[in-house]
Amino acid sequence: VVCVENITNVAALAKVVMEETPHVMLAGKGAEELAYKNGFQAEQLLTDSSEAAYREWLKTSEYKPIINIENHDTIGMLCLDQHGDIAGACTTSGLSYKMKGRVGDSPIIGSGLFVDNEIGGAAATGMGEEIMKTVGSFLIVELMRQGKTPQEACEEAVQRIVTKNKNIENFQVAYIALNKKGETGSYCIHPGFAMMQYKDGTNSRITSAATLDS
Ligand code: ASP
Repeated sequence: VVCVENITNVAALAKVVMEETPHVMLAGKGAEELAYKNGFQAEQLLTDSSEAAYREWLKTSEYKPIINIENHDTIGMLCLDQHGDIAGACTTSGLSYKMKGRVGDSPIIGSGLFVDNEIGGAAATGMGEEIMKTVGSFLIVELMRQGKTPQEACEEAVQRIVTKNKNIENFQVAYIALNKKGETGSYCIHPGFAMMQYKDGTNSRITSAATLDS
């Protein structure tokens, strides 16, 4: 789903589109109508603190759609269940103070998330435009299909972006991946990205290696 307002659990709404309609993507008001028909409640998502931050931003209104270490919020999840089936979800509010109508990578199939139950899954966070231009999550799954480990595939997908950009100091991209064997990988441009892994009853926080690790 894209450009949905007033609904917190948009990943659950995307699941409704997948399971209850013959389509793979719904946008804006149509997606919201589907939500209400399926029992979702309209919610006020603007908090006092984000309204105050927005009013502060309005004073200069500098349009700077840059993703760095502090200002992004995508959550990507990949799961392998006891039957060996893989599932994935991701959710985001995207860039702060973006143009109305701007769509990021998260809802774009193959960019912010891709799962092929024969191979594995991948999810992204960071500068959506760069992730979309390289269809990053699809790329990672295809690299795993060709025999790369999740770690190698994440590194190659980040490298694809790094070689195409002279300004990688200015933005972050990070990927996570999981294959059918339950192997995981993650990689990012700027140090600071970590993923949580739950395996065999244990939670672990894995700090991702980065292109700009010194
Ligand atoms: N990937 C998101 C976007 O570009 C930003 C984020 O990571 O939160 O919209």
